[in-house]
Amino acid sequence: IDDQGALGVKIADPEKFKVAARTFAKALLDHPVSGQGLPTYGTNVLVNILNEAGGLPTQNFKVGQFAGADKISGETMNEIITARGGKVKHGCHAGCIIQCSQVYNDKDGKYLTSGFEYETIWGLGADCCIDNLDDIAMADSIMDDIGIDSIETAVTFGVAMEAGILPWGDSKELLRILAEEIGKGTPLGRILGGGAGSVGKAYGVTRVPVVKNQAIPAYDPRSVKGIGITYATSTMGADHTAGYTITTNILNVGGHIDPLKKDGQVELSRNLQIATAAVDSTGMCIFVAFPALDIPECLPALIDMINARFGISLTGDDVTNLGKHILKVERQFNIEAGFNKSHDRLPEFFSTETVAPHNAIWDFSDAEIDEFWNF
Ligand code: SF4
Repeated sequence: IDDQGALGVKIADPEKFKVAARTFAKALLDHPVSGQGLPTYGTNVLVNILNEAGGLPTQNFKVGQFAGADKISGETMNEIITARGGKVKHGCHAGCIIQCSQVYNDKDGKYLTSGFEYETIWGLGADCCIDNLDDIAMADSIMDDIGIDSIETAVTFGVAMEAGILPWGDSKELLRILAEEIGKGTPLGRILGGGAGSVGKAYGVTRVPVVKNQAIPAYDPRSVKGIGITYATSTMGADHTAGYTITTNILNVGGHIDPLKKDGQVELSRNLQIATAAVDSTGMCIFVAFPALDIPECLPALIDMINARFGISLTGDDVTNLGKHILKVERQFNIEAGFNKSHDRLPEFFSTETVAPHNAIWDFSDAEIDEFWNF
């Protein structure tokens, strides 16, 4: 809201925009993930789902299931928030109608954190073997105050536990290190604040889950193989949102592709990365992808909104070509910055260690991964 008298956004065809926006909003609310799952449990709905699928990386990616999953799950979080008078759903901006954020209060009913995401809870929880949701919420709040990324930092702590800097599951020591070492910029804090790759180098750890030096988030690439292709090939490093194959591998959104088999994963990741690059450039939240993949009217309505806003006539093909163009420009940027095919690879331990319960392994050849860029 601007109280300085700005003119506001000009819409070339307000009536067409209104009709398209109504169709788009209805699709978001009608889809079970964006209309029910996310506003009820937040993104943390995924703890139990990934645990059941054997894809919840635990103890720095040693196994795919966590004994304490129920204690940190979206269902438990919903009960705690409700009992303490928080908000189970909340929009991170005024126009959001999905509202996957929430307000999480402490035991005294005072605000502790919000936007309490699955990937943060997984990282500090399963990956560090911590099953105390209040301590994880406190860590989330401290990370927000310091201004450090809650996925990179959570994975960093998993590597730090592997290095013996603190014991597995020691949430109190983790909170101390966050506030007293990273928050104050001590020598140890600077090594940890530099991310998972930084800790791996300083302490000689070889099991370091990073691609292009960015921490691998909350989905084991051996047992959810499509997301492994996204981690390997994304121009930004291991970014799950760049091509979120959890949709089709795990949630059966946009069809189903077996997460444990290699078939179809490169195409799935490529198609999602192209679509995501285009949708990201509109400023839309990534969670519109769920209805866009399942409800036929959703994506055309988004394109109609853009056309009505600017008075242009983009087609579906134009949007796909936009996504392809963005990915190619980003890749060219990386090549000129010194990256090459050898950086589109997962860390070696994913190819040498199987992950329970499926005993899955990362078995894509270099040539199969490189096929991604063939478009
Ligand atoms: S805009 Fe997206 S991330 Fe933010 S609350 Fe809404 S659904 Fe969640």
